Amino acid sequence: MAAYSTILYEHPADGVARIVMNRPDARNAQNLDMTYELNDAFDRAVADAEVKVIVLAGADPHFSAGHDLRDTAEKKLGRDFPVVSTWGGFEDAGAEGRYAREQEIYLQNTRRWRNLSKPTIAQVQGKCLAGGLMLAWACDLIVASDDTTFCDPVVAMGVCGVEWFVHPWELGPRKAKEMLWTGDSWTAEEARSFGMVNHVVARAELADFTLRLAGKIASKPTFAVKTVKEAINRTLDIQGQNSAIEQAFGLHHLCHAHNMMKFGVIVDPSGLHPSVRSRIDPSLNKKS
Ligand code: ZN
Repeated sequence: MAAYSTILYEHPADGVARIVMNRPDARNAQNLDMTYELNDAFDRAVADAEVKVIVLAGADPHFSAGHDLRDTAEKKLGRDFPVVSTWGGFEDAGAEGRYAREQEIYLQNTRRWRNLSKPTIAQVQGKCLAGGLMLAWACDLIVASDDTTFCDPVVAMGVCGVEWFVHPWELGPRKAKEMLWTGDSWTAEEARSFGMVNHVVARAELADFTLRLAGKIASKPTFAVKTVKEAINRTLDIQGQNSAIEQAFGLHHLCHAHNMMKFGVIVDPSGLHPSVRSRIDPSLNKKS
C-alpha cells in the first residue's frame, strides 16, 4: 500500500513509529480500509530497522468507537484487501461465510497485531468502545488520558462480547462479567485499578507522556525488549489465553447465528441506537 486514506504514519521521535487512526468524523470507527491499512502500517514498522517502538493513537476526539458496521459487501476480502489468515469462502452462505469473515477481519488480524515482534503502546483518549477495546488490548501497554471511557456494549446487541475475548484476562472474571452484562463504561482510573491501563495522564500530556515512555523502551537493547514480549505473551498462551479466545469466538458466532434465526440479522436490532439501526439494517439484512 503506497498511501493511506484512513490512518497516518508518523515518526514523532527517534526509534518511534506512530500510527494514527484518522477518521475523526466517524469517531475512528474501523472499516475494512482502516483494518488493512493498520495491518500494513504495523508490518511496515516491524520491517523498519529504525523503529524500536510502535505507538497506536487515534485522531481527536476519540480513540475508536469500534468496528464500522456500515461496511458493506462492495469491497471484498482477497480482491480489495490481502488475506492475512488461512481462511477463505468469505462470501459463502449462512454461518460459514460470516465465520470465515470474522476469523479473517477480527480474530486473526488482532492476533497478528498482539504478536508483533516490536513493543506497541496504545495511546487512548475519549471513547474506546468494543472494537476499539480490541485494538487497545492487542497493544502491549496502554496509556490513557483521564477523560477516557472504556466499554464493550455488545451484549445489548445479543452477542456475548467482542470477537477478541480477553475481558477476563484484562479485567478479572468478576469485573469482566459486570462490564459485559451491564454495558457500563469504565473510567481510565478504574481501568488502571484493574491493571488494564498502565498510566492515566491529563489529555494535554497524553502524546508527550506516551512518547517519553516509548523513548525509554526504545533506548534498551532491542532483542531483550523483543524477548520480554515473547516470554510474557507465551506465558499467557501457556495459561490458556489463546484457547479461551477461541472458545469465546465460537460462542460469539453461535450468538450471531441465533440472532440471524430469530431476527434475520446477526445482532439483536433492539440493542442498536436507532440511527445506527436505520443505517446498517439494509447491509445486515441478508440471509446469505
Ligand atoms: Zn461478530
